[in-house]
Amino acid sequence: MNETVRPRIAASACPHDCPSTCALEVEIFGNRTIGRVRGAQDNAYTAGVICAKVARYAERVHHPDRLKQPLRRTGTKGSGQFAPISWDDALDLVAERFIRAEQAHGPEAVWPYLYAGTMGFVMRDGIHRLRHAKKYSGFFSTICVNPAWTGFVAGTGKLAGADPREMAKSDLVVIWGTNAVNTQVNVMTHATRARKERGAKIVAVDVYMNGTMRQADLPVLIRPGTDGALACAVMHCLFRDGNADWDYLDRYTDAPRELAEHLRTRDPQWASRITGCPVETIEAFARLAGETKRAYFRLGYGFARSRNGAINMHAASCIAAVTGAWRYEGGGAFHNNGGIFHLDASLIEGTDLRDPSVRMLDQSRIGAILTGDADALRGGPPVTAMLIQNTNPVSVAPDQETVKRGFAREDLFVCVHEQFMTDTAKMADVVLPATMFVEHDDFYTAGGSQYILLGPKLIEPPGECRSNHEVICPLAKRLGAEHPGFALTPRELIDATLRKSGWGTLAELEAKRWIDCQPDFATAHYLNGFAYPDGKFRFKPDWPNVPFRRWHRTHDAPSVPPLPDHWDVIEEADSEHPFRLATSPARGFLNSSFTETPTSRRSEKRPEVMIHPEDAAALAIADGEEIRLGNRRGAVRLHARLFDGVRRGVLIAESLWPNSAYADGRGINTLTGADPVAPFGGAAFHDNKVWLEKLTT
Ligand code: SF4
Repeated sequence: MNETVRPRIAASACPHDCPSTCALEVEIFGNRTIGRVRGAQDNAYTAGVICAKVARYAERVHHPDRLKQPLRRTGTKGSGQFAPISWDDALDLVAERFIRAEQAHGPEAVWPYLYAGTMGFVMRDGIHRLRHAKKYSGFFSTICVNPAWTGFVAGTGKLAGADPREMAKSDLVVIWGTNAVNTQVNVMTHATRARKERGAKIVAVDVYMNGTMRQADLPVLIRPGTDGALACAVMHCLFRDGNADWDYLDRYTDAPRELAEHLRTRDPQWASRITGCPVETIEAFARLAGETKRAYFRLGYGFARSRNGAINMHAASCIAAVTGAWRYEGGGAFHNNGGIFHLDASLIEGTDLRDPSVRMLDQSRIGAILTGDADALRGGPPVTAMLIQNTNPVSVAPDQETVKRGFAREDLFVCVHEQFMTDTAKMADVVLPATMFVEHDDFYTAGGSQYILLGPKLIEPPGECRSNHEVICPLAKRLGAEHPGFALTPRELIDATLRKSGWGTLAELEAKRWIDCQPDFATAHYLNGFAYPDGKFRFKPDWPNVPFRRWHRTHDAPSVPPLPDHWDVIEEADSEHPFRLATSPARGFLNSSFTETPTSRRSEKRPEVMIHPEDAAALAIADGEEIRLGNRRGAVRLHARLFDGVRRGVLIAESLWPNSAYADGRGINTLTGADPVAPFGGAAFHDNKVWLEKLTT
């Protein structure tokens, strides 16, 4: 009876929206149960380390609250009243409502909506094939990466950088604007290895003393949205102190003398006033950057989620070009490797059917779109039908009150394909149960490293759960949408995509588990020139024409500063809103995923906001007291946590709790704005002015 059942160990890849995309080893019992999940030791980036939330993934897969059968709404919108329905009836109903929407307003009235709940290409992006085939409204993806990628590419010309594993060979690792301890633990693996084996220093730049800052030798604590000022002051010191590499600058950059002249007035005193960071700390950072050849700048996403975010990312990326750190192994800069994989995803996405005249709708402006804003709708018809996969906009999208008003529309039909009854699923007309990554076949690329990884189906799904592919294909058939991709299995799609992209076959990937796509040293370090026609890094980008236009421009770039600078377009505090709020990621959650797992909920405790003790004292707010934060977009109730690891006037709410976890059902994104970040759109999640008050009752 007590005989120990030995699991088999199967290879997989983490599907979540995290740059690491860890190579996993999953314990499997029988054909329906998983056990512990571990990081693959022999993957050079994962190196055996994964985060705690994925290590206990069995909690998610075998969670009692998983959706297991299709549901049809029986009560009013958002009432949570649903009744079971068969798959055939559910898909018939969705198809009927899509056809009705198309007949009334044309195909653009249907808006397929997705995001990164899975990063697998087959399951995440197959929905594009349906929309291209049907000419439904396009999905302009802005919510996460747009400002950051634009800012990095503005300098280098390409979304790629020095091999992330080189951090372990560095003498200075600068972790800028990403709390890697919470969000991509593998960065810490390689940075701390450099410290242990080489005596490397770690500098962290952030807006609060989070886990990463606490591990740094030099934590650089600044106010949100002021990274451009910090970067300028560091470069000012590099030029002033003779630590600029003029040989490198003359060979590899576009306007070094103009930059040096421009930075003369951007000294540490100037930056200190803007950032709140002491002059001595800025000087110390500049000295380390200037005197360490192997300096690796690991630039994260967080600091780009600001109205000046793209400009700040570009400014930070300029430092390695001033010092010439790119020349050295363990030196240079890195943000994301999206530019190295050159996948031909045409079979998955149906891009051969793309009609450029079909309108694109901005993901981040879903509230304005669903409430009929003519500008957001780009002059086209209203959206009256949606299919939503892998995302939870009623919780994660900015300007939440407007989003909720949109979803409450009686004339809007919404089908949500999900794993749990999320805030968005609750607002749906039809809810379909979705598989998790161990229950379907898919493949992934790692933005934070250089691998293509396979995540095969390992167990049978519970109940009647179906994969995204198993929803898209039968729906396409009902809608008369045609494309060869609808006739292929996920494994056939993976195999064909790898072959078309020059990365071998599925069988080869299955045997190897991952493909190392790292370019050679000279290419990764741009030693043959940066990815502009003249080979020069751009200190002075042509912002409206930065070669990052996977999507279209939301608006013409306004007066973006021509050279790195502090661009003063953030929501500055004012007398009515004396605080600046950033909504940083919590360790136990990943966007709105894992908010359902008991261990994560226990570790995160409850929605809280960190406030400096002196700010709290001035308002007679005690530690743990329930308070209200608000601005013109709405108000949120949560608990105060007194914390002296923020600058005065700055508030940090580690998120993202479901709306129902807040006293009055309003989530933290009630406070965030959906106005597009320049120059190509995005959401400024960490750039909010707010008032704060005690609750009187
Ligand atoms: S660190 Fe990121 S990629 Fe790795 S297991 Fe955790 S969530 Fe997944």
